[in-house]
Amino acid sequence: MKKFALAGNPNCGKTTLFNSLTGSTAHVGNWPGVTVDKREGVYKKCGEPIAIVDLPGIYSLSPYTPEEVISRNYILDEKPDCIINIIDATNLERNLYLTTQIMEIDVPMVIALNMMDAVEKNGDKIDPEKLEEKMGLPVVAISALKEHGLDELMKRAYEISKEPRTGSTVLDGTQLMHLIRDCKIALDGQKVDNSLFHAIKLAELDEIEVKMHPESARMVEEFKQTFEDDTFGSDFEAIVADSRYKHISKNYSSVVVKNKSNEKEKMSRSDKADRVLTHKIWGIPIFLLILFAVFHLTFSENFLFIGYGLPEGWVSLEGTAAEGLFGESGINSPGVFLQSLLGLGTDSLTDAIRGAMESGGVAEWATGFICDGVLGGLFSVLSFLPQILLLFLFFSILEDSGYMARVAFILDRIFRKFGLSGRAFMPMIMGFGCSVPAMINTRTLADQNERTATLRVIPFFSCGAKLPILTAVSGGILTLANINNADIITYSMYLLGIVVAICAVLLMRNTTMKGEVPPFIMELPAYHAPQFKNLMLHLWDKLKHFIKKAFTIILVSTIAIWFFSHFSWSWGYLPDEEMNNSILANIGQLIQPLFTPVGFGSQLGSFGWVFAVAAITGLIAKENVIATFGTLAACVVSGFVADEALGGVDSIEALIGATGIGISGLIAFIAFNMLTIPCFAAVATAKAESPSKKSFRMTLLFWVVVSYVVSMMIYLIGSWWWTLFIFLALWAGIITIIVLNNLGKIDVKAFFSKLNPKNRKRA
Ligand code: GDP
Ligand code: MG
Repeated sequence: MKKFALAGNPNCGKTTLFNSLTGSTAHVGNWPGVTVDKREGVYKKCGEPIAIVDLPGIYSLSPYTPEEVISRNYILDEKPDCIINIIDATNLERNLYLTTQIMEIDVPMVIALNMMDAVEKNGDKIDPEKLEEKMGLPVVAISALKEHGLDELMKRAYEISKEPRTGSTVLDGTQLMHLIRDCKIALDGQKVDNSLFHAIKLAELDEIEVKMHPESARMVEEFKQTFEDDTFGSDFEAIVADSRYKHISKNYSSVVVKNKSNEKEKMSRSDKADRVLTHKIWGIPIFLLILFAVFHLTFSENFLFIGYGLPEGWVSLEGTAAEGLFGESGINSPGVFLQSLLGLGTDSLTDAIRGAMESGGVAEWATGFICDGVLGGLFSVLSFLPQILLLFLFFSILEDSGYMARVAFILDRIFRKFGLSGRAFMPMIMGFGCSVPAMINTRTLADQNERTATLRVIPFFSCGAKLPILTAVSGGILTLANINNADIITYSMYLLGIVVAICAVLLMRNTTMKGEVPPFIMELPAYHAPQFKNLMLHLWDKLKHFIKKAFTIILVSTIAIWFFSHFSWSWGYLPDEEMNNSILANIGQLIQPLFTPVGFGSQLGSFGWVFAVAAITGLIAKENVIATFGTLAACVVSGFVADEALGGVDSIEALIGATGIGISGLIAFIAFNMLTIPCFAAVATAKAESPSKKSFRMTLLFWVVVSYVVSMMIYLIGSWWWTLFIFLALWAGIITIIVLNNLGKIDVKAFFSKLNPKNRKRA
């Protein structure tokens, strides 16, 4: 099968084109570095099927970060049949810089002039034919987003892929070309492929190249000496880059005719927005406010706080089938409304099935198994799907509009001084979606220590799977505290995750994970209205993923949980009221003391083991925490506490009633699950992305320690407020020691090595 590779600058629309060509749903984001690994799909509308490879974005073929190396190696080693070089036409000159390098490789190439819809909208004009004539390479105007010109692009790419092509260069200047030609002859003698490309990189003394061809590199050095610095200066790389840019502005800038008036207006509009959104002081509060608005829309049961001025129960529709759908004492936000709607459906479905099974004379255990075990667990997770999707819709809008990239920019300004760059915030923010791609995205970080530190805190950015825990448990907290602002609790917990993440990175970057903070030179992507198609793709992706997980991991786990909670060690069936003697209960009771210091261990009454079990099942998939509650709570309700005290069957409320857990214990429970070892998939990714086995082991330990320490602090301070002062003193002490150590006033390392008996003997 023929193979075409998509190469271009970050954020020029490669993935959008890839999706349009292959019908895939890969993640498109309005910031650089979203695609960090190559991805393959198939295009079927040519004479034969063609493999399309989406490469990470690069500005040049002299790479600095691991993801740039992937692109370079792919183009050079895998020898695609054609390279489709995508160019953001709204930014022609900068994008052509890469083009002038790719054209030096002996590979057929075609230029896809993308974003032509945006060029037209701005009122600018670009003449693709003129560009084609000047460059001597095929140029096709397209819009990946609107799917214009794609057939034409593929047709031309297919045609030129039949003929081999020899590289050509735009570089000139007699001395430079002399050197390059000599290098090329030497490399041709060694039968090196792509000799022109390698010769030029050698002339630049590119690091990778020098390692690959040490002999030729020596030749370059000698050659340079014969000319002394008056001809070339000392920095070849700069000379070559300069020569490329000069060529581009001299020859190709006339291809573009800019609409002057529009340009000014557009600049000022974007500038005005940035002046507010990235303001030195207001930038962060505005971000927090926007984030709160998102949570309010998704979780609030008192939308726009309307409920405060109105009589209790005014929209509750008490006694009707739709009770509580629109709210109890305030109006439900869209998220809660959708959740209630789905809940009405799943509840009546469960009731109908239960009724049918009971009247059909099915055995009691079988009814329990289907209705409590399978449906109870599954539906308890499923009920959060509307809110998960809504939250993602909002995050996608913030991302696609270009705002999230600004957030990284604002945070960079504050945290750079402390060893954390804005670049590191991008994978962190991606972690709100799912830790797995976010961890892979850390490849965009050049400093290995910063990469490891970032990887470790990514799970603290609460992902979609943790959302049911947050929402369900905050529901319980609301009942205990007798308030109805779930949005404030979920919002605070998300913020807690962010704060813990930032503190933990800063701690690592100033102790064991020191390193340089590379300059943050990302250009801010243009603001644009979020694309409906992209948003739907994101949501569809999430939905598919969720459904797949629900009917595999979560279903199997709930069945196992029900099974082990209804059988004793002698394999006798236990009815609901004897669940405390089950296999699961015994195991739970065994591990329960581990969680005593963090507030949900042995201090809880009967059924307290459910919390311990839930935390453990969460290690497989975080949705399991709530699925476990869902499966077991129905039994708790029917078995023990079905009496008047807890009329409802709300899973969390039933458990709170049965165990007597308090508010601080519940908050600690959320925090523990948010911060502890993430799900299986994330752990596997962390292992793959870790620099060494030891580093990975430290990562696991790190998660356990952080979750334990933070939830313990929450529990203790929540239960005995004065412990706050003990923790404050402790942290002040730790920070003082770190600062003194970094200033060279004390030497912690020497102190610890003196304590080590091995070293003491030697001394
Ligand atoms: P990549 O980093 O090169 O893979 O770029 P993406 O495919 O992720 O796209 C970056 C941004 O450009 C997204 O916000 C896209 O919606 C937008 N985009 C991509 N192609 C087009 C296009 O043809 N026209 C317009 N107006 N926007 C586009
Ligand atoms: Mg991409």
